[in-house]
Amino acid sequence: MSKRAPVKKNDFIEEATFEDLTHDGNGVTKVEGYPLFVPDALPEEKGTVKVVKASKGYGFGKLMERTKESPKRQDPPCPIYHECGGCQIQHLTYEGQLEFKEKHVREVMTRIGKLDNIKVHPTLGMEEPWRYRNKAQVPVGEKDGRFVAGFYQKRSHEIIDMDKCIVQFEKNDEVIQHVKAICERLGIQPYDEANHRGTLRHIMTRTAYETGEVMVVLVTRTAKLPHKEKIVEELVKSIDGLKSVIQNVNSKKTNVIMGDETHVLWGQEVIYDYIGNIKFAISARSFYQVNPEQTRVLYEKALEYADLNGEETVIDAYCGIGTISLFLAQKAKKVYGVEIVPQAIDDAKNNAKLNEMNNVEFEVGPAEVVIPNWYEQGIQADVLVVDPPRKGCDEALLNTILSMRPKKVVYVSCNPSTLARDLRILEDGGYETLEVQPVDMFPQTMHVECVSQLILKG
Ligand code: SAH
Repeated sequence: MSKRAPVKKNDFIEEATFEDLTHDGNGVTKVEGYPLFVPDALPEEKGTVKVVKASKGYGFGKLMERTKESPKRQDPPCPIYHECGGCQIQHLTYEGQLEFKEKHVREVMTRIGKLDNIKVHPTLGMEEPWRYRNKAQVPVGEKDGRFVAGFYQKRSHEIIDMDKCIVQFEKNDEVIQHVKAICERLGIQPYDEANHRGTLRHIMTRTAYETGEVMVVLVTRTAKLPHKEKIVEELVKSIDGLKSVIQNVNSKKTNVIMGDETHVLWGQEVIYDYIGNIKFAISARSFYQVNPEQTRVLYEKALEYADLNGEETVIDAYCGIGTISLFLAQKAKKVYGVEIVPQAIDDAKNNAKLNEMNNVEFEVGPAEVVIPNWYEQGIQADVLVVDPPRKGCDEALLNTILSMRPKKVVYVSCNPSTLARDLRILEDGGYETLEVQPVDMFPQTMHVECVSQLILKG
């Protein structure tokens, strides 16, 4: 990268050609190798760009005129798309999104993983890439004396009121509107972030895809919530399928949504949902995949890649509430799951009981510590599944895989870059990556999930 920017603020670049998209959906054009990030510009497009900011290694520009339009451009269907920032690529057709994600995965496999000939399949997308999210969480505040709940405006903490979000289940929109209206009517004070005052901070709702059960979580600054009984009474009256009303107390000055204290105000502590044939209990703070339709696609692919015949011992690292573990346990002799969050392991154990599955065991702890311990105790996996957070697998865990030498590794990943890095380490240690399958869990956004299959060579 050049030392000095080849452009300066207010320069115009004629016929700038866009070649890529960044993770926040900006188009990328290059001037003598120097990247300029430009909102609302797509790969293959051309236009005139005005430089708005020129830092040392990169700059930002504004598209003044588009002279060539991508055939994959579309009008973003959401009216608040440009202010919100929750979605980044609504201006790209869905077909274009799926192609872009596949290309991106292939590109990082080559660049970061040095895996040139690897088989990357076309992205598995949704038939209807809208209204797919089972969980909504909206910040609450006050604006011009009015109670508002919606989303933070891009790059700010200003809350914009919102009545629908077209990637959410319609039910979630409806629930949020009811909660908002009820709390406003009963005079519940919205949270004032600047002064750390007020009561209601966030409204969270989750609707189970298969059962229709609804949970509402009111995140409050104080344990005291005025008109508790009345709120519950009105929620029960207005929301069909409501099974659980929860209060979570978060008294800290923080961006983290939920606090440590949780009370059931009404109904069940959990709601129930199914993925395939397996039933799951989901509590307010459980991590549960947000796109149920595609979760099933992803898990089925993982199961296909694990290729089980009923005789195998399987380890599921980073198991969360045991969703993948239980999915695999249907076809394996024994599954061991490990996860760092104790509450998630409690959920996982309960979920195993709920499904009367006796061939699973769960343990709390870092995968990179627990799995080496298991290995020392003589637990030898035939298949090892990993589904780590964005930063990928810990090196100690990768080294354990290389000593344990399971015949197959199934790697589920929400970050292609760390996936590529880790695949390279496993390849160097004797594994071969047979294929990578991108799955679109988050249509309209830049995120892409992948599942890949590796086998031990020789
Ligand atoms: N497989 C699950 C969860 C995947 S998300 C599902 O599909 O629902 C990744 C999980 O890894 C999270 O639950 C997170 O708490 C857990 N985690 C993060 N670091 C970990 C570590 N070092 N060891 C074990 N689990 C970890």
